[in-house]
Amino acid sequence: DLARLTPESEAELAFEGALRPKTLAEFVGQARVRGQLQLLLRAAAMQNRTPDHILLAGPPGLGKTTLAMIVAQESGRSLRMSSGPAIQHAGDLAALLSSLVPGEVLFIDEIHRMARSAEEMLYLAMEDFRIDIMVGKGAGATSIPLDLAPFTLVGATTRSGLLPNPLRDRFGFTAHLEFYGTDELEEVLARAAALLELDIDRRALAEIAGRCRGTPRIANRLLRRVRDYALVHPSTGSGEATPSTGSGTGPAGLDAVHAALELYDVDALGLDRLDRSVLEAILVRFDGGPVGLNTLAVSVGEEAETIESVVEPFLVRIGMLTRTPRGRVATRSAWQHFGIDRQAQAGQ
Ligand code: ATP
Repeated sequence: DLARLTPESEAELAFEGALRPKTLAEFVGQARVRGQLQLLLRAAAMQNRTPDHILLAGPPGLGKTTLAMIVAQESGRSLRMSSGPAIQHAGDLAALLSSLVPGEVLFIDEIHRMARSAEEMLYLAMEDFRIDIMVGKGAGATSIPLDLAPFTLVGATTRSGLLPNPLRDRFGFTAHLEFYGTDELEEVLARAAALLELDIDRRALAEIAGRCRGTPRIANRLLRRVRDYALVHPSTGSGEATPSTGSGTGPAGLDAVHAALELYDVDALGLDRLDRSVLEAILVRFDGGPVGLNTLAVSVGEEAETIESVVEPFLVRIGMLTRTPRGRVATRSAWQHFGIDRQAQAGQ
C-alpha cells in the first residue's frame, strides 16, 4: 500500500539504503534546511563541540533518516539509531544513553512515541548530559546521578506538535521538511536512475515526479516498479534506439510508468487508495464536512494519527482539504476531482 509509506520489506530497505544521499551536497531540495544544517555543523566544528540537538519534523519519506545519517557523516561522528516505540521504559533510554561514546549522534525516530517516563529523563540528558537513575522502590528509593558522554540528539517526528513543549524546547534547531516540488523530484529520480543504471526517458521521470505525492520515498518506489516492468517487457521502451545497450528497444518510457502507477493504484493527481477513501468519505458520507478527525478515522478504518500525519498534509498542500475548528472540509477541487455533483448529492 503506497500510503503506508514505510519500507515494505527487507528488499525495499536495502533498495532505499542504496539510494540514500550520503552528504548534504548530494541531498536534493530542502535548500533552507540544508543551509541551516550546514551552518550549525560548521559552527560546532569550529568550536570543537558537539552540534546542537536537532529535531526533524515532517511527513514520512521526506528524508528525516537520511538527514540524521548525513549529520553524523558530515560531522565525522558515529551514529546510533533507535526509535520511540523501542523506548518503553526510562530504563531502556538509560541503557542507550549510558552506552554512547563521546560525541556520538543518537537518532530517535518517531520520538513522539517514547514512554513518558523516558521523555522526562531525556530533558536532563539533553541539557546537562546527565541522568538520575532511580534505585529501589517506595520510601527506600534513591536516585543515583550518572554523567553521560556529550552527544547530539537527532529526533524525528511526523509533526512537532506531537511533542510536549519541554522536550521541543530542548532542541537547538527544528527543521520542518516540506513536500518536494516536481523539479526536485525529477532530480531525485534522475540520480536514482543513474545509481540503478536504469535507462529511462525524461518524460517518464517527469510523469513519476508529478504522481508521487511530493515524496522521494514514493518516487523511488515507483521507479523500482518501472525498472521491473521494463525488465519483464523490454519491448515497451520509448522506441528510440539506445546506442549504449544496442538493444534497439530504447529507454524505459511512459508505458512502464503507467503500469507502475496502476499497480500502486495511483490516480491522475498522485492520490493513492487511502487518500481517496478519506476524501470520498468526507464528500459522500459527510456531505463535504466539516467532520471531526476521529469520526473520519472510524469511518475509513484507519488510525487518527495516520490520517492526520500521513494523509492530510498532502491533501491540504494540494488544496483538496482544509482543516477548520469544526472539522475537516473538502474543497471545491475535491468535489471536481471526484466528479460528484454536490447539488445532486444533497437532493438524495
Ligand atoms: P520515515 O520517517 O518514514 O523513516 P524519512 O523521512 O526518514 O521517512 P528517508 O528514509 O530518509 O525518509 O528517505 C526515504 C527514501 O527517500 C530514501 O531512499 C532516500 O534515499 C530517499 N530520499 C529522501 N530524501 C531525499 C533527497 N532529498 N534526495 C534524494 N533522495 C532522498
